[in-house]
Amino acid sequence: MGQKIAAEVKETEAPQLSVDEWTIDQTVAEVERFFAGVLAKGPTADTADERPALLRWANRADVERYRAFYARPWSTGSFDSAVHAFACECARPECDAQVELALIDFPAPSDAASPVLAAGHHMPEN
Ligand SMILES: [Zn+2]
Repeated sequence: MGQKIAAEVKETEAPQLSVDEWTIDQTVAEVERFFAGVLAKGPTADTADERPALLRWANRADVERYRAFYARPWSTGSFDSAVHAFACECARPECDAQVELALIDFPAPSDAASPVLAAGHHMPEN
């Protein structure tokens, strides 16, 4: 999938960042600089209460990217059998856990009451 996306980006002559030779810190700094304008536009979470919705938005975007990928005529595999590592939606700022979940098991757009959580993680108390 990565090779296919890289080839498509190259065809469009869209801006690219080649991170293969960079440290993680260098990559983070360059990606933040590169996307600063877009990131400022949001969506964003300015408070802890807003983080769960932002994480759901990002995870939902991953589901839709897969849906678009598998809809392409050259794609192999299927949406119904694909698994993705979603961001844990516990919304703790220090959490970087991922949750392996079949795309078809990701909560429906109308289901905001079912967070995707890593084992042992829970939603913050209000
Ligand atoms: Zn978590």
